[in-house]
Amino acid sequence: MTAAPDAVVLAQLLGRVVYFHALFIALDLQPAPVAVPGVLCCNHSSHPGQRTRYGLLGTSAWVALDEIATGLKGYDRRCPELGRDCCATCRVADCAAAVVDAWLTTELHSYDLPAIDTEARQSVRAAAARQLSTAFADQYEAHCPTQDGHHRAGGPRPRAADELPLTSELLALWQDPLARAEQPVISWLNHCTALTDIRRVLNSRRTA
Ligand SMILES: [Zn+2]
Ligand SMILES: [Zn+2]
Repeated sequence: MTAAPDAVVLAQLLGRVVYFHALFIALDLQPAPVAVPGVLCCNHSSHPGQRTRYGLLGTSAWVALDEIATGLKGYDRRCPELGRDCCATCRVADCAAAVVDAWLTTELHSYDLPAIDTEARQSVRAAAARQLSTAFADQYEAHCPTQDGHHRAGGPRPRAADELPLTSELLALWQDPLARAEQPVISWLNHCTALTDIRRVLNSRRTA
């Protein structure tokens, strides 16, 4: 049985997502190249009203993730019946996918890297959805069929993120939230103030 992640650690990790998003992504935000149609959450499909509702998410630190994703209009695949009856765990998965998709797209554009194919993009989206929804579900004992599906779809870290520092950082931070308790988030990204800074450091590392 998995131990519940520490609430303080999760709040810090969520804070880091908000911080990176506001500092590095929001100003240079690029629209996602492919609109992904929404799918019904598990409270609006096979198990009406059976799962933890959105209200739980809305009163926790996790609401920050929802707020970022809500700002990404049209980027995500949230439940077409979107509302307070939605499954909270499905919502976390959808928000995480939308946020990482925006980071991925914005980083590719900012560093002049070639576009990636849909399969590679999907693997990054699925990894973030799996990691964050698992942490949420463990914290609130709110596992659901969609989250379990993400769980089963587990695999190695997607290679598509290797060249993208922020996207990689997000996936790395959430890979094992419990391990973060003794390790504050310190990386070279902390010394950057914008994507142009990150690009400069990346280029100097490549030529070094
Ligand atoms: Zn729903
Ligand atoms: Zn669900």
